[in-house]
Amino acid sequence: MKTSIATVTVSGDLGQKLAAIAAAGFDGVEIFENDLLVFDKSPAEVGRIVRDHGLEISLFQPFRDFEGMPEPYRGRTFDRAERKFDVMQELGADLVLVCSNVSPIALGGIDRAAADFRELGERAARRGLRVGYEALAWGRHINDHRDAWEIVRRADHANVGLILDSFHTLARRLDTNSIRSIPKDRIFLVQLADAPLIDMDLLYWSRHYRNMPGEGDLPVTDFTRAVAATGYDGYLSLEIFNDQFRGGSTRSIAVDGKRSLLYLADRVKRAEPDVALSAPVLPDRSAVKGIAFVEFSTSGGKQDELAVMLGQLGFAKVARHRTKDVDLYQQGDIRLIVNAEKHGFASTAYHVHGTSAYAFGLTVDDANGTVERAVALGAERFEQAPGPGEVTIPAIREPGGGVCYLLDGSEALSRLWDIDFVGIAPEPERIDAGLRHFDHIAQTVRYDDLLTTILFHTTLFDVRKTPMVDIVDPGGIVRSQVVENAEGTFRVTLNGAENHRTLAGHFIAESFGSSIQHLAFSTDDIFATAAALAGNGFTPLEIFRNYYDDIEARFGLDPEFAERLRRANVLYDRDDSGEYFQLYSPIYGEGFFFEIVERRGYKGYGAPNAIFRIAAQKRHIRPMGMPRG
Ligand code: MG
Ligand code: MG
Repeated sequence: MKTSIATVTVSGDLGQKLAAIAAAGFDGVEIFENDLLVFDKSPAEVGRIVRDHGLEISLFQPFRDFEGMPEPYRGRTFDRAERKFDVMQELGADLVLVCSNVSPIALGGIDRAAADFRELGERAARRGLRVGYEALAWGRHINDHRDAWEIVRRADHANVGLILDSFHTLARRLDTNSIRSIPKDRIFLVQLADAPLIDMDLLYWSRHYRNMPGEGDLPVTDFTRAVAATGYDGYLSLEIFNDQFRGGSTRSIAVDGKRSLLYLADRVKRAEPDVALSAPVLPDRSAVKGIAFVEFSTSGGKQDELAVMLGQLGFAKVARHRTKDVDLYQQGDIRLIVNAEKHGFASTAYHVHGTSAYAFGLTVDDANGTVERAVALGAERFEQAPGPGEVTIPAIREPGGGVCYLLDGSEALSRLWDIDFVGIAPEPERIDAGLRHFDHIAQTVRYDDLLTTILFHTTLFDVRKTPMVDIVDPGGIVRSQVVENAEGTFRVTLNGAENHRTLAGHFIAESFGSSIQHLAFSTDDIFATAAALAGNGFTPLEIFRNYYDDIEARFGLDPEFAERLRRANVLYDRDDSGEYFQLYSPIYGEGFFFEIVERRGYKGYGAPNAIFRIAAQKRHIRPMGMPRG
């Protein structure tokens, strides 16, 4: 497999695009004609820049409205083709994409189209060039790769081949198995794109909503398996039209693209072990057993505030780090680390984001294997020298800049808490609130980074993603998607904030991109927990009375039960899977908070309650532009 990406996929001018594509480790690049036209360098110079970056031009595109034209248009299309061939020779590109004709004057007819391609093949051959034919999903006469293949077959010219594009095939729900019988040497290039399932006009969907394989809902893996089954081992090239990508970070989109292709090839090879597809073998996706800890960075007075808050939530300070200004708090299986070091990464995180949950630890089967897989997929290893005798914890940088530590059952890692920490006597006045486990971690990211973060989790860990839902904030929409494992021991809710008027957007802006916005803990008895918390001096987020009138009517609740929920400020949801109870802390700082949940079979995250929770929390946020209180 050789990897390639179309210049149209990433943002920037052609020079910036090529630099980012090369840095992400692609072998080739599709030059989009428009990117060339709006760039102030000649095709020959662009060709040199491409080669200086160590890249190859996998394709020049597009050439439109070619086949089946009546005269005098037919003659003119051949003249246009010769002009494109001139540019290609200057560039050093040997393959051009011809997409199926959409012109209303195009004449149908497989043999007419085949004859046109045979002539084009002759002209291309004279210059040592090749022509690839792609069926657009909205082509006038040809909109199916099977018909495009029939035309290529009948053209019967060595310089004319087929270009397959997963979007065009999958958007029309065509059977991918029809690809398996195409001879591999007749497939000149394979373009890949995924997309979220949205019912809309094909052309608009394609031009604005494509995304990287694995980021959407289309069966791109099945498509690629069928391609690989032919024996094809040439370029897999990303051709993604996406408004977000065009305005996003050139570097991170290129890195995501490479990651998505490596992950896709890995899945294909696992599903079709006999295929020729040459791609690196990755360690297995890591099975997450649970969230081992979450670590806060803090300092000074903020450290004391955090300690009070944790005490009210029923956490006991159980241990202190042997050599560092680091405390360990625990309740049930939940471990929270409070790091107030003046040096190192935690301190840097504090200076950038303020008090924040900047790192988390996961328990996996194989911590080092997980890091290896992450690095193979383009993630960055995180290293910070441990003190003498202390445990080195394998770790990686998260896309948001935080740290993900990995623990497993190996000798040192399983004894981390005994080796690095010294136990201390618990404070007697604290009341355990019955918090048992981490239920979920909620990360808030810029909307542009949502797909990046989801791709990071889904390619590295054995998790699935749920469809995206819109959370209504009185200040705008927040897009939310969940990654979770089958056991429910690892759940991350991801929120993409589009503007600063939402609570999520405010949090990101004011904490300078910090990503963990809330931690949710589970209890087996929400009302007992609420009572214990009150005994510790905890004040829950106060929920408006209107909410309780609404759910009483909506769910037909017993008025006494609704009143009990109201007195405890507990939110309620119910669906086919079961019942859900939620209790929130007030917000701390610029929008961080804690959540306590009780699940009675319920599988979701209380999305219908979000607007009520957000409205209640926003009363405590300082208005935009006001000084910090
Ligand atoms: Mg295409
Ligand atoms: Mg939550």
